[in-house]
Order: sequence, then C-alpha cells, then structure tokens
Amino acid sequence: MTQTYQHYIANDWHSSQALIEVYNPANAQLLARIPQASDAQVDQAIEAARKAQKAWALTPAIERAGHLRRIASKVREHAERLARVITQEQGKVPALALVEVHFTADYLDYMAEWARRLEGEILTSDRVGEHIFLQRKPLGVVAGILPWNFPFFLIARKMAPALVTGNTIVIKPSEETPINCFEFARLVAETDLPSGVFNVVGGTGAVAGHALTRHPGIDLISFTGSVATGSRIMAAAAPNITKLNLELGGKAPAIVLADADLALAVRAITASRVINTGQVCNCAERVYVERKVADAFIQQLSTAMAATRYGDPSRQGDLDMGPLINQAGLDKVAQMVRTASDQGAQIITGGAVADLGAGFHYQPTVLAGCTAQMEIMRKEIFGPVLPVQIVDSLEQAIALANDSEYGLTSSLYTRNLSAALKASRELDFGETYVNRENFEAMQGFHAGTRKSGIGGADGKHGLYEYTHTHVVYLQE
Ligand code: NAD
Repeated sequence: MTQTYQHYIANDWHSSQALIEVYNPANAQLLARIPQASDAQVDQAIEAARKAQKAWALTPAIERAGHLRRIASKVREHAERLARVITQEQGKVPALALVEVHFTADYLDYMAEWARRLEGEILTSDRVGEHIFLQRKPLGVVAGILPWNFPFFLIARKMAPALVTGNTIVIKPSEETPINCFEFARLVAETDLPSGVFNVVGGTGAVAGHALTRHPGIDLISFTGSVATGSRIMAAAAPNITKLNLELGGKAPAIVLADADLALAVRAITASRVINTGQVCNCAERVYVERKVADAFIQQLSTAMAATRYGDPSRQGDLDMGPLINQAGLDKVAQMVRTASDQGAQIITGGAVADLGAGFHYQPTVLAGCTAQMEIMRKEIFGPVLPVQIVDSLEQAIALANDSEYGLTSSLYTRNLSAALKASRELDFGETYVNRENFEAMQGFHAGTRKSGIGGADGKHGLYEYTHTHVVYLQE
C-alpha cells in the first residue's frame, strides 16, 4: 500500500485533495504520494508560523538550541532508515545518504552552539550621555524552499539558523524528493517543539512554491535551486520587497597546473564529479589543464571515470553512483554531450545513456578538445560528465574560469604557493578549493558571485542572514 503524506502545519497533519506521485529515479517504482498545498493551506501554514514567532523569539536562545539538539538526536536515532528513504527517492548511494543524514544532525548541533554566541554591539556615541546599542533580531517568518540534490541536509541548513535566531519557518521540499522532509517532520512531531515553529507544506514550485514566495506574510525567502527559479522568485518577491537569500547554480572550474600532484588531481576531480552522480552545485563542472600534462591527465582521468561503478543503489549497496534525478535531467545531459561532440569535442570515455532496463542512468563521461564557447563549458551540466580544455598558463585558466555567468566555487591543483595565492586573489568565486575536492565546511561560508546567488549559508555569516540589525539610541 503506497503511503500518502500530509502537510505539517501547527503540529498537526493536513491532507489535500490534489496529490503528487513520487518515484524512485533508479527503477521508476512508485514510492509515495504527497499533498499539493492550496493557496489557503499555504496561508494557514504562514499564519501558524506568524502566530508562534513572537513567543519563540522571547524564548531564551539556549532553550531554542535545546530543541534543535533534541531533533538532532532523533535524526541520529533514525539515521539508517532516513538514509534508505533518501536513496530511494533521490538515487544517492547508501554510504553518501548516511553521510548526509549525520551531517544534517551535526549541522543542527553546530547551529545550536551559536545560542550563547549571538551578540550585539555597543557603539561609541558622538554625544554626551548617549548610549548606542546595536541588536540582532529575528526577521520573522522564513520560507525555506529546497532542491532535490541534498534534500535532507537542506532542511537543516535553512531551519537551524532560522530557529536559533528566533524565526519560525515554513519549508517546501522539492516535489522530486519530499518524503525525507515529511519523515523529518514526523520526528519533529515527536519532540516538544512548540506549535507553528516548524511547518512543512508539500507541492510543486509553480503552485505551493509560488504561493509562498509572493506572500506578504513571509519576511525572508531562503531558496536553494536553479538560476531560472531564483529569478522567478525574485519577481514574485518584488511587490512585497521580501528579503531574499538565494543559493543558485554553479559551473565550477577545476584548474590543473603542470606542477600539480596529478594522481591527487585525478582522484579529487573524479570524486567531485561522481559524487551524487554529478548533481552537486559545487562539483567540478569544467576542467582547465596545462598543456604539458594534458595527455597524461586526460588519460588518467578517463581511466578513473570509466572505473566508476553505477546502477540502482536501492538494490545494490556498494556503488559509486546512482541515476540522475529524472528524465528531464537525463535528456539534458545527453543533449549537452551530443552538442559538444557535434561541435568537435572528443568523447574519451562514456558519452551515452546507460541502458540498465529502467531509471535515468548516464555513463561517466570525459570530453577532451573542449573550447570556451561550447555550451558544455558554459552551462551547468548536473551529471557525470567532465569536459576538459587545454590551457597554456595560469593566467589563461583564471581568465577562462572567470568568464562565466556563475561564480559559486572553483578549485586549483598545484604545488606552487605563489600560484595558489594568485588564484585565490584573482578567481572571482565564492569559494576556492586548493588541492582537494569540492565540499564545504559547516563553519565556512557558502555563497556565490554573479548569477550563483545572493547572500550565503553556513557559519557566522550565514547565521546572521537570518537576522536584521536594530540600533537603539538612548539619551540619558
Ligand atoms: P529548481 O530550481 O528546479 O527547484 C528548487 C525548488 O524550487 C523546488 O522545491 C521547486 O519546487 C521550487 N520551485 C520551482 N519553481 C518555483 C517557483 N516559481 N516559485 C517558487 N518555488 C519554485 O532546482 P532543483 O532542480 O531542485 O535543484 C538543482 C539546482 O539547484 C541546480 O542548479 C544546483 O546548482 C542548485 N543548487 C545550488 C546549491 C547552492 O548551495 N548554491 C545547492 C544545491 C543545489
């Protein structure tokens, strides 16, 4: 019997007549049905969050943190089961799904630590007998709109900083991967979190997402997803001048210099591209390799990519990668590789849809002979495909890397300290990884330049995105 989930609003479960079916992308099996929120249900969720917010903000921060810690414990208690849900609905291999679940629990604990560190400032006044206090206050009600690629972690990335700073939240998971979020809500419901502080509404972006983002009752839209949707959300938020935090797409360049530890570069770039089947915003999306080592690098990279074990992770545990999320994702990757090949790129390994009977599988692929104007070097692929372009210098690589509408992350492989420093000065990106794969730390700051977003997440700077600054001038 297929399960039907319900919205979680004001600590209660609410059904909708309209339902959305959720499938396993590895084998097309129907997993569950989720409700499509009507405008009235979105209103109801925002109203519940608004009603709860004043009392929540007055609750001592350390008590708010206690709630986050208890939820983290619940997540750890159910880690194996939650990881299985993520594998089934998203296609992530079991080991990575388990990492995601534990990272989520750790993230809730990490943000809880900030409770005793939220600080204001006392400023020096120009006037005699005047005191200037700068306070950080919650914004109010946050709408958290999630993508499907790290669906479980993204709940915590939005909820934890929102709640610890005194906001309440309405989350809308992606319609591709909503089950883990409703399972998370079930765990929250078993704790003593006050009614209305955390709410989940199901639905598509065009219906439930749009209703949330154009709503005057929302004080911050915290969105992670594609550039196209980010742009639509900005338009929907414009009439209310709603504050935005947008974490959008990337086209991360990986630069391999002639003096690099080639084995390390091959290992790290392959891992970066195979993890989650290349569906990560900060995965290596394009490679620039110095001519002197290009042949050796491309040959080693192709061998490593070709050795990738892939298939249905809900049936076979020890794989490196699973399927792409859906037919549209698969069609996009296949079309981009075909176009690149038509434009003169050489397919060194892979280059085709993998026929495993069912599901959206694509072969791990390396393309050589790529040039700057090719679509494959400019548009986000979001699949296990590495296009490689040969360069003659670090300067050329940096210029090509920066010539992009995206600016999320970048990486560099070199043993030369001056080259690393030059790149970190001149690469115009939110993050640069030197001699390692792309994966950010929770205490860092994950943010992009150009069309990769507005604002950022994680660490102190991510936390303060969920506050506004209120200055009080007090004259004795
Ligand atoms: P998407 O933009 O298609 O969908 C993301 C969410 O937005 C979903 O919940 C969807 O229902 C909702 N949505 C869609 N249309 C909407 C609308 N008009 N109004 C409101 N909500 C709407 O993105 P996706 O395919 O789920 O995720 C993949 C993208 O996310 C990639 O581009 C990837 O790079 C990006 N991403 C970025 C980061 C980051 O931290 N920068 C992290 C993960 C993913």
